[in-house]
Amino acid sequence: MRVFVILPAAGIGTRMAAGSHAAAPKQFLSVGGVPVLVRSVKAFLEVSRVDAVCVAVRASERERVQAQIEQHELGPRVHVVEGGDSRQESVGNALSALESADEDLVLVHDAVRPLIDAATIERTIDAIERHGAAIVGLPAVDTIKQVERTAEGAIITATIPRERVVLAQTPQGARVGLLRQAFAEAQADGFAGTDEASLLERAGIEVAVVPGSAKNFKITQPGDIELAEFYLAQAGAR
Ligand code: C5P
Repeated sequence: MRVFVILPAAGIGTRMAAGSHAAAPKQFLSVGGVPVLVRSVKAFLEVSRVDAVCVAVRASERERVQAQIEQHELGPRVHVVEGGDSRQESVGNALSALESADEDLVLVHDAVRPLIDAATIERTIDAIERHGAAIVGLPAVDTIKQVERTAEGAIITATIPRERVVLAQTPQGARVGLLRQAFAEAQADGFAGTDEASLLERAGIEVAVVPGSAKNFKITQPGDIELAEFYLAQAGAR
């Protein structure tokens, strides 16, 4: 059984545009002198059970990513494929490109979550091995409200007991055969999801949850680079 990792990194990062880092998509911004994408790749390379890391990037970014792979000496376990117009399409392209068997494991991780740690990756791999599919989820600490959007904002329609809620992070993964089945069914039905679990769930596949942490946040908006650097400084420079 082999372990594959897909890092979708083909986003254009429009939500960052208002900030001071507008020049580059967020996966190419620097955190403590190292590009976000390189940090994410390195986190998975630290786990010896990971056989290969497949990064999905825009065709126009291929050269830049290849250069970063060489400059940071990421080694032969790292491969680059072409991404698509949505996250799901980027992951789908990488999933098709994997030379893997149904019983192998695949983890998908947002390239823009550079602070994922080896222990969480290991726990996710263990959970996939045991249950067939698993994701990292952060227990909710705030009270969760269901709302209906209105012209002025939103109106609460229900309170969801927070012990029944987790916030989905990544990695998210499954046996390769199960994830391919979920992607094929989504494609056949024209279903677009924002994560892998939503595709697995609708295919009737049970997905386990491994505890995540606030540190594994997704670099999304201005200020997030500084927040990531703060976490790194706290942990001692890597
Ligand atoms: O858009 P969002 O911030 O949720 O993106 C999550 C991850 O999906 C990012 O790493 C981004 O680069 C990636 N993505 C992609 N292809 C797209 C859009 C997003 O690989 N077309």
